[in-house]
Amino acid sequence: MTTAFFAHPDCLRHVTPPGHPERAERLDAIAAALSGPAFTPLDRREAPLAAASDILRCHPRDYLDRVQDAVPADGWVSLDADTHLSPGSLDAAMRAAGGNVAAVDAVLSGQVANAFVGCRPPGHHAERETAMGFCIFGNVSIAAKHALDAHGLSRVAVVDFDVHHGNGTQDLLWGEARTLFASSHQMPLYPGTGHPHERGAHDNVLNVPLAPMTGGAEMRHAYENEILPALDDFAPQLVLISAGFDAHAADPLANLNWIEEDFAWLTHAICDVADAHAGGRVVSTLEGGYDLTALGASVAAHVQVLMERGG
Ligand SMILES: [Zn+2]
Repeated sequence: MTTAFFAHPDCLRHVTPPGHPERAERLDAIAAALSGPAFTPLDRREAPLAAASDILRCHPRDYLDRVQDAVPADGWVSLDADTHLSPGSLDAAMRAAGGNVAAVDAVLSGQVANAFVGCRPPGHHAERETAMGFCIFGNVSIAAKHALDAHGLSRVAVVDFDVHHGNGTQDLLWGEARTLFASSHQMPLYPGTGHPHERGAHDNVLNVPLAPMTGGAEMRHAYENEILPALDDFAPQLVLISAGFDAHAADPLANLNWIEEDFAWLTHAICDVADAHAGGRVVSTLEGGYDLTALGASVAAHVQVLMERGG
């Protein structure tokens, strides 16, 4: 069994305005980091375009139409203060969602042990009818709904370790009793949600804020004491990861002090949960991470662990 890596050149065609941190060069950094001989065993696959029906599991038709109609012939159109569409953005967003759906299919069919989806734009801030925070479609939520509705699973966990709270995932899965959404994130920080009292309609949301300037020790404590026990209690049949790497000490958008070894430790810990309950089945998808050097090194550490655990 191997680890699949889903990507597509179309994801470079989502072009953001000059100076925007969520830029195509992020994927170049990841490609370079995963190019060494250690990553030769990766099962490299093209992320397919999502079907409209995949998007519609999480977003209403009006929203999909609005995004499609807004794509400009040139230049940019802004969906919110920091979320922009360029001519290639719709294809990129459909690859990001479609890569997640295909990764779930590959893992649940037993073709691969686990998967990492290295696409952009990210997804965890996109709410039901609202693009925000660099995100257009709720990629990880779309993957969760696909696993539930197309594959018939009854318990899917989403672990979000991006430094920002996944308000979009929380919004999309709030009423979905077949999911557990567990998030660690810096607080205070954009987008301002993610308080512990936000618990979901079925007690299916777990928010664990981390204080600014804290590092790997505090992260490990939070996971060992709160998030990992909750995941064990939930006993997921599939574990999805919203893998943002912006909690890294070098990241310019936040103030946590994780290092590559912390991402490796956390990946192992999540894989332990998947091994105990889900036959090891993990699908991880790229969210944030804006220092290119730290992003490449952290993704490499994360994927290396997925390969070790899937091998
Ligand atoms: Zn983030």
